[in-house]
Amino acid sequence: MDTNVVFMDETHIESEELSRAGALIKQGELVAFPTETVYGLGGDALQEDSARKIYAAKGRPSDNPLIIHIAKWEDIYYICRDVPKAAEKLADAFWPGPLTMILKKSDVVPFATTGGLDTVAVRLPGHAVARAFIEAAGGYVAAPSANVSGRPSPTLAKYVLEDMKGKIPLIIDGGEVGIGVESTIVDLTEETPVILRPGYITREMLENVLGEVTEDATMMESLKDVAPKAPGMKYRHYAPKGSLTIVAGDTEAVIKYINEACREAAGQGKRTGVLCTSETGSRYEADSVKCVGSRADESTVAQGLYKVLRECDEEELEVLFAESFDTEGIGQAIMNRLLKAAGHQVTQL
Ligand code: AMP
Ligand code: MG
Repeated sequence: MDTNVVFMDETHIESEELSRAGALIKQGELVAFPTETVYGLGGDALQEDSARKIYAAKGRPSDNPLIIHIAKWEDIYYICRDVPKAAEKLADAFWPGPLTMILKKSDVVPFATTGGLDTVAVRLPGHAVARAFIEAAGGYVAAPSANVSGRPSPTLAKYVLEDMKGKIPLIIDGGEVGIGVESTIVDLTEETPVILRPGYITREMLENVLGEVTEDATMMESLKDVAPKAPGMKYRHYAPKGSLTIVAGDTEAVIKYINEACREAAGQGKRTGVLCTSETGSRYEADSVKCVGSRADESTVAQGLYKVLRECDEEELEVLFAESFDTEGIGQAIMNRLLKAAGHQVTQL
Protein backbone atom coordinates (compact mmCIF):
# COMPACT_ATOMS: atom_id res chain seq x y z
CA MET A 1 0.00 0.00 0.00
CA ASP A 2 1.24 3.52 -0.83
CA THR A 3 1.16 5.95 2.09
CA ASN A 4 0.33 9.52 1.06
CA VAL A 5 1.13 12.53 3.22
CA VAL A 6 -0.92 15.74 3.05
CA PHE A 7 0.02 18.89 4.93
CA MET A 8 -2.68 20.68 6.89
CA ASP A 9 -2.27 22.96 9.89
CA GLU A 10 -4.71 25.08 11.86
CA THR A 11 -4.33 28.00 9.45
CA HIS A 12 -4.60 25.86 6.33
CA ILE A 13 -7.41 23.30 6.38
CA GLU A 14 -8.14 21.83 2.93
CA SER A 15 -11.77 20.80 2.84
CA GLU A 16 -11.40 18.61 -0.24
CA GLU A 17 -8.46 16.71 1.27
CA LEU A 18 -10.40 16.41 4.52
CA SER A 19 -13.44 14.85 2.86
CA ARG A 20 -11.11 12.40 1.14
CA ALA A 21 -9.57 11.53 4.53
CA GLY A 22 -13.03 11.23 6.08
CA ALA A 23 -14.20 8.95 3.27
CA LEU A 24 -11.25 6.62 3.87
CA ILE A 25 -12.33 6.24 7.53
CA LYS A 26 -15.93 5.56 6.54
CA GLN A 27 -14.67 2.86 4.14
CA GLY A 28 -12.93 1.18 7.07
CA GLU A 29 -9.40 2.40 6.27
CA LEU A 30 -6.94 4.06 8.69
CA VAL A 31 -5.70 7.67 8.60
CA ALA A 32 -3.06 9.18 10.91
CA PHE A 33 -3.77 12.74 12.07
CA PRO A 34 -2.30 15.42 14.34
CA THR A 35 -3.74 16.23 17.76
CA GLU A 36 -2.40 18.62 20.40
CA THR A 37 -0.93 15.70 22.40
CA VAL A 38 0.64 13.26 19.89
CA TYR A 39 -0.28 11.94 16.41
CA GLY A 40 -3.23 9.53 16.39
CA LEU A 41 -3.84 6.47 14.19
CA GLY A 42 -7.52 6.85 13.38
CA GLY A 43 -10.16 4.34 12.35
CA ASP A 44 -13.98 4.29 12.52
CA ALA A 45 -14.78 3.69 16.21
CA LEU A 46 -18.08 2.03 15.35
CA GLN A 47 -16.68 -0.58 12.92
CA GLU A 48 -15.15 -3.70 14.44
CA ASP A 49 -12.86 -4.22 11.48
CA SER A 50 -11.33 -0.77 11.85
CA ALA A 51 -10.31 -1.55 15.42
CA ARG A 52 -8.74 -4.80 14.21
CA LYS A 53 -6.81 -2.92 11.55
CA ILE A 54 -5.51 -0.46 14.16
CA TYR A 55 -4.27 -3.28 16.41
CA ALA A 56 -2.60 -4.95 13.41
CA ALA A 57 -0.90 -1.77 12.13
CA LYS A 58 0.49 -1.00 15.59
CA GLY A 59 1.27 -4.58 16.55
CA ARG A 60 -0.77 -3.75 19.66
CA PRO A 61 -2.36 -6.40 21.87
CA SER A 62 -6.13 -6.34 21.28
CA ASP A 63 -6.92 -6.19 25.02
CA ASN A 64 -5.60 -2.64 25.04
CA PRO A 65 -8.63 -0.40 24.41
CA LEU A 66 -8.73 2.61 22.08
CA ILE A 67 -9.75 6.19 22.83
CA ILE A 68 -12.76 7.44 20.83
CA HIS A 69 -12.24 10.99 19.57
CA ILE A 70 -15.31 13.17 19.03
CA ALA A 71 -15.70 16.69 17.64
CA LYS A 72 -18.83 17.86 19.52
CA TRP A 73 -19.77 17.44 23.19
CA GLU A 74 -23.31 16.15 22.39
CA ASP A 75 -21.82 13.16 20.56
CA ILE A 76 -20.81 11.71 23.92
CA TYR A 77 -24.45 10.68 24.48
CA TYR A 78 -24.40 8.40 21.43
CA ILE A 79 -21.41 6.34 22.55
CA CYS A 80 -21.83 6.55 26.36
CA ARG A 81 -24.69 5.87 28.76
CA ASP A 82 -25.40 7.31 32.23
CA VAL A 83 -23.07 10.27 31.56
CA PRO A 84 -22.47 11.76 35.04
CA LYS A 85 -22.53 15.44 35.97
CA ALA A 86 -18.77 15.21 36.59
CA ALA A 87 -18.22 14.59 32.86
CA GLU A 88 -20.13 17.77 32.00
CA LYS A 89 -18.08 19.77 34.49
CA LEU A 90 -14.80 18.43 33.15
CA ALA A 91 -15.86 19.06 29.56
CA ASP A 92 -16.77 22.64 30.44
CA ALA A 93 -13.37 23.16 32.01
CA PHE A 94 -11.01 21.19 29.74
CA TRP A 95 -12.64 20.29 26.39
CA PRO A 96 -11.62 20.72 23.69
CA GLY A 97 -8.32 19.59 25.17
CA PRO A 98 -5.89 16.91 26.38
CA LEU A 99 -8.25 15.05 28.74
CA THR A 100 -9.74 11.57 28.22
CA MET A 101 -12.71 10.40 30.29
CA ILE A 102 -13.64 6.77 30.97
CA LEU A 103 -17.42 6.31 30.95
CA LYS A 104 -19.94 3.47 30.51
CA LYS A 105 -20.21 2.52 26.86
CA SER A 106 -23.45 2.35 24.89
CA ASP A 107 -24.39 -0.60 22.67
CA VAL A 108 -23.27 1.10 19.45
CA VAL A 109 -19.61 0.82 20.48
CA PRO A 110 -18.16 -2.56 19.49
CA PHE A 111 -16.17 -4.50 22.11
CA ALA A 112 -13.33 -4.61 19.58
CA THR A 113 -12.87 -0.87 20.18
CA THR A 114 -12.95 -1.14 23.99
CA GLY A 115 -10.77 -4.24 24.26
CA GLY A 116 -13.74 -6.20 25.62
CA LEU A 117 -14.57 -3.68 28.39
CA ASP A 118 -18.05 -2.24 28.99
CA THR A 119 -16.48 1.17 29.54
CA VAL A 120 -15.14 3.48 26.85
CA ALA A 121 -12.49 6.21 26.73
CA VAL A 122 -13.62 9.49 25.11
CA ARG A 123 -11.77 12.68 24.19
CA LEU A 124 -12.63 15.89 22.36
CA PRO A 125 -9.25 17.13 21.10
CA GLY A 126 -8.22 20.78 20.99
CA HIS A 127 -6.43 20.59 17.62
CA ALA A 128 -8.59 22.23 14.93
CA VAL A 129 -7.39 19.85 12.18
CA ALA A 130 -8.20 16.86 14.40
CA ARG A 131 -11.75 18.11 15.00
CA ALA A 132 -12.37 18.92 11.32
CA PHE A 133 -11.07 15.47 10.38
CA ILE A 134 -13.26 13.72 12.98
CA GLU A 135 -16.34 15.55 11.64
CA ALA A 136 -15.44 14.57 8.07
CA ALA A 137 -15.01 10.97 9.21
CA GLY A 138 -18.52 10.74 10.65
CA GLY A 139 -17.90 11.93 14.21
CA TYR A 140 -16.39 8.91 16.00
CA VAL A 141 -12.71 8.17 15.42
CA ALA A 142 -10.95 5.52 17.51
CA ALA A 143 -7.30 6.47 17.74
CA PRO A 144 -4.34 5.29 19.75
CA SER A 145 -0.99 6.98 19.27
CA ALA A 146 0.28 6.43 15.70
CA ASN A 147 3.45 4.52 16.64
CA VAL A 148 4.33 0.86 16.43
CA SER A 149 3.63 -0.62 19.89
CA GLY A 150 6.59 -0.13 22.24
CA ARG A 151 8.07 2.85 20.35
CA PRO A 152 7.73 6.45 21.54
CA SER A 153 4.51 8.16 20.45
CA PRO A 154 5.05 10.30 17.33
CA THR A 155 5.21 14.07 17.81
CA LEU A 156 6.07 14.72 14.13
CA ALA A 157 4.55 13.28 10.94
CA LYS A 158 7.96 11.94 9.83
CA TYR A 159 7.88 9.55 12.81
CA VAL A 160 4.38 8.38 11.86
CA LEU A 161 5.71 7.68 8.36
CA GLU A 162 8.65 5.78 9.84
CA ASP A 163 6.29 3.46 11.75
CA MET A 164 3.27 3.30 9.40
CA LYS A 165 4.72 3.48 5.86
CA GLY A 166 3.06 0.90 3.64
CA LYS A 167 0.47 0.03 6.31
CA ILE A 168 -1.98 2.95 5.99
CA PRO A 169 -3.12 5.01 2.97
CA LEU A 170 -2.87 8.52 4.44
CA ILE A 171 -1.07 10.68 6.99
CA ILE A 172 -2.25 14.24 7.71
CA ASP A 173 0.89 16.24 8.56
CA GLY A 174 0.10 19.10 10.92
CA GLY A 175 3.70 19.86 11.93
CA GLU A 176 5.12 19.31 15.41
CA VAL A 177 2.51 18.75 18.14
CA GLY A 178 2.18 21.26 20.98
CA ILE A 179 2.01 19.15 24.15
CA GLY A 180 4.02 16.06 23.30
CA VAL A 181 2.72 13.58 25.90
CA GLU A 182 -0.56 11.68 25.67
CA SER A 183 -3.79 12.91 27.29
CA THR A 184 -4.55 12.66 30.99
CA ILE A 185 -6.99 9.75 31.51
CA VAL A 186 -9.58 10.02 34.30
CA ASP A 187 -11.98 7.22 35.15
CA LEU A 188 -15.45 8.55 36.03
CA THR A 189 -17.11 5.15 36.51
CA GLU A 190 -15.95 4.90 40.15
CA GLU A 191 -17.46 6.78 43.09
CA THR A 192 -14.33 8.95 43.34
CA PRO A 193 -12.71 9.85 39.99
CA VAL A 194 -9.38 8.08 39.44
CA ILE A 195 -6.49 9.29 37.28
CA LEU A 196 -5.20 6.34 35.24
CA ARG A 197 -2.56 8.18 33.24
CA PRO A 198 -1.00 11.58 34.05
CA GLY A 199 -0.83 14.24 31.35
CA TYR A 200 -0.98 17.97 30.77
CA ILE A 201 -4.20 18.25 32.83
CA THR A 202 -2.92 17.67 36.37
CA ARG A 203 -4.56 16.20 39.46
CA GLU A 204 -4.73 19.68 40.96
CA MET A 205 -6.58 21.02 37.90
CA LEU A 206 -9.07 18.13 38.10
CA GLU A 207 -9.55 18.59 41.85
CA ASN A 208 -10.32 22.27 41.35
CA VAL A 209 -13.32 21.18 39.28
CA LEU A 210 -14.40 17.92 40.92
CA GLY A 211 -13.21 17.94 44.51
CA GLU A 212 -11.42 14.74 45.56
CA VAL A 213 -9.62 12.82 42.80
CA THR A 214 -7.37 9.79 43.40
CA GLU A 215 -4.59 8.17 41.35
CA ASP A 216 -4.16 4.61 40.19
CA ALA A 217 -1.61 3.01 42.52
CA THR A 218 0.52 1.78 39.63
CA MET A 219 0.87 5.16 37.94
CA MET A 220 4.31 6.12 39.22
CA GLU A 221 5.51 2.79 40.59
CA SER A 222 5.84 -0.66 39.13
CA LEU A 223 3.87 -2.88 41.54
CA LYS A 224 4.38 -6.60 41.09
CA ASP A 225 0.93 -7.79 42.14
CA VAL A 226 -1.28 -4.90 41.06
CA ALA A 227 -2.49 -4.53 37.46
CA PRO A 228 -2.95 -0.95 36.20
CA LYS A 229 -6.59 0.01 35.63
CA ALA A 230 -5.77 1.30 32.14
CA PRO A 231 -4.84 -1.95 30.39
CA GLY A 232 -2.33 -0.11 28.19
CA MET A 233 -0.28 1.05 31.15
CA LYS A 234 0.92 -2.47 31.89
CA TYR A 235 2.93 -2.73 28.70
CA ARG A 236 6.50 -1.50 28.50
CA HIS A 237 6.13 1.63 26.42
CA TYR A 238 8.41 4.18 24.87
CA ALA A 239 11.52 2.14 25.40
CA PRO A 240 14.65 3.25 23.55
CA LYS A 241 16.84 0.41 22.23
CA GLY A 242 19.73 1.40 24.52
CA SER A 243 19.60 0.87 28.29
CA LEU A 244 18.30 3.99 30.02
CA THR A 245 18.87 4.93 33.67
CA ILE A 246 17.32 7.95 35.39
CA VAL A 247 19.72 9.61 37.82
CA ALA A 248 18.12 11.58 40.67
CA GLY A 249 19.69 13.80 43.31
CA ASP A 250 21.52 17.08 43.78
CA THR A 251 22.32 18.69 40.38
CA GLU A 252 26.11 18.75 40.81
CA ALA A 253 26.18 15.15 42.04
CA VAL A 254 24.00 14.03 39.11
CA ILE A 255 26.31 15.70 36.57
CA LYS A 256 29.40 14.15 38.15
CA TYR A 257 27.82 10.68 38.35
CA ILE A 258 26.56 10.71 34.76
CA ASN A 259 29.88 11.95 33.35
CA GLU A 260 31.78 9.21 35.22
CA ALA A 261 29.31 6.53 34.14
CA CYS A 262 29.56 7.70 30.52
CA ARG A 263 33.36 7.63 30.66
CA GLU A 264 33.26 4.09 32.01
CA ALA A 265 30.78 2.93 29.34
CA ALA A 266 32.84 4.62 26.61
CA GLY A 267 35.88 2.73 27.93
CA GLN A 268 33.96 -0.48 27.22
CA GLY A 269 33.36 0.67 23.65
CA LYS A 270 29.71 1.69 24.16
CA ARG A 271 28.05 4.70 22.53
CA THR A 272 26.72 6.96 25.27
CA GLY A 273 23.93 9.53 25.50
CA VAL A 274 22.58 11.97 28.09
CA LEU A 275 19.02 13.33 28.26
CA CYS A 276 19.22 16.64 30.09
CA THR A 277 17.90 20.20 30.14
CA SER A 278 19.22 23.39 28.59
CA GLU A 279 20.30 24.56 32.07
CA THR A 280 22.90 21.76 32.37
CA GLY A 281 23.52 20.71 28.75
CA SER A 282 27.01 22.21 28.46
CA ARG A 283 28.21 20.27 31.53
CA TYR A 284 27.96 16.76 30.09
CA GLU A 285 30.46 14.72 28.11
CA ALA A 286 28.99 11.89 26.07
CA ASP A 287 28.75 10.80 22.43
CA SER A 288 25.41 12.59 22.29
CA VAL A 289 24.07 15.18 24.73
CA LYS A 290 20.37 15.86 24.20
CA CYS A 291 18.71 18.91 25.71
CA VAL A 292 15.09 17.84 25.94
CA GLY A 293 13.81 21.27 27.01
CA SER A 294 14.20 23.79 29.82
CA ARG A 295 13.49 23.34 33.53
CA ALA A 296 12.29 26.94 33.58
CA ASP A 297 9.30 25.75 31.51
CA GLU A 298 8.78 21.99 31.88
CA SER A 299 6.15 21.92 29.15
CA THR A 300 9.11 22.22 26.73
CA VAL A 301 10.49 18.98 28.23
CA ALA A 302 7.15 17.22 27.66
CA GLN A 303 7.07 18.48 24.09
CA GLY A 304 10.59 17.30 23.25
CA LEU A 305 10.79 14.01 25.15
CA TYR A 306 9.56 11.50 22.56
CA LYS A 307 11.52 13.15 19.73
CA VAL A 308 14.72 12.82 21.75
CA LEU A 309 13.98 9.18 22.64
CA ARG A 310 13.61 8.44 18.93
CA GLU A 311 16.84 10.28 18.13
CA CYS A 312 18.66 8.08 20.66
CA ASP A 313 17.70 5.09 18.51
CA GLU A 314 18.57 6.85 15.25
CA GLU A 315 22.04 7.54 16.67
CA GLU A 316 22.31 3.96 17.96
CA LEU A 317 23.15 5.05 21.49
CA GLU A 318 23.68 2.06 23.75
CA VAL A 319 24.03 3.45 27.27
CA LEU A 320 21.75 6.34 28.22
CA PHE A 321 21.30 8.48 31.31
CA ALA A 322 18.51 10.96 31.99
CA GLU A 323 18.13 13.69 34.56
CA SER A 324 15.13 13.32 36.87
CA PHE A 325 12.15 15.69 37.31
CA ASP A 326 9.91 16.68 40.20
CA THR A 327 6.43 15.24 39.98
CA GLU A 328 4.64 18.56 40.37
CA GLY A 329 2.38 19.72 37.53
CA ILE A 330 3.39 18.45 34.07
CA GLY A 331 6.48 16.94 35.76
CA GLN A 332 4.36 13.95 36.79
CA ALA A 333 3.53 13.12 33.18
CA ILE A 334 7.19 13.58 32.19
CA MET A 335 8.39 11.24 34.97
CA ASN A 336 5.65 8.68 34.24
CA ARG A 337 6.87 8.41 30.59
CA LEU A 338 10.57 8.53 31.54
CA LEU A 339 10.12 5.79 34.16
CA LYS A 340 8.46 3.58 31.56
CA ALA A 341 11.19 4.32 29.02
CA ALA A 342 13.76 3.36 31.67
CA GLY A 343 11.87 0.23 32.78
CA HIS A 344 11.81 1.95 36.23
CA GLN A 345 15.62 1.90 36.44
CA VAL A 346 16.49 4.81 38.78
CA THR A 347 19.77 5.60 40.52
CA GLN A 348 19.06 7.77 43.56
CA LEU A 349 22.19 9.60 44.70
P1 AMP B 1 -3.18 5.47 23.52
O1 AMP B 1 -4.29 5.21 22.59
O2 AMP B 1 -1.87 4.97 23.02
O3 AMP B 1 -3.14 6.87 24.01
O4 AMP B 1 -3.59 4.58 24.75
C1 AMP B 1 -4.90 4.64 25.27
C2 AMP B 1 -4.85 4.36 26.73
O5 AMP B 1 -6.18 4.46 27.25
C3 AMP B 1 -4.35 2.97 27.05
O6 AMP B 1 -3.49 3.01 28.17
C4 AMP B 1 -5.65 2.25 27.38
O7 AMP B 1 -5.44 1.15 28.20
C5 AMP B 1 -6.48 3.34 28.03
N1 AMP B 1 -7.93 3.06 27.94
C6 AMP B 1 -8.69 3.12 26.83
N2 AMP B 1 -9.98 2.75 27.11
C7 AMP B 1 -10.01 2.44 28.41
C8 AMP B 1 -11.04 1.98 29.30
N3 AMP B 1 -12.28 1.76 28.88
N4 AMP B 1 -10.71 1.77 30.60
C9 AMP B 1 -9.46 2.01 31.05
N5 AMP B 1 -8.44 2.43 30.25
C10 AMP B 1 -8.70 2.65 28.95
MG1 MG C 1 0.23 4.89 22.78
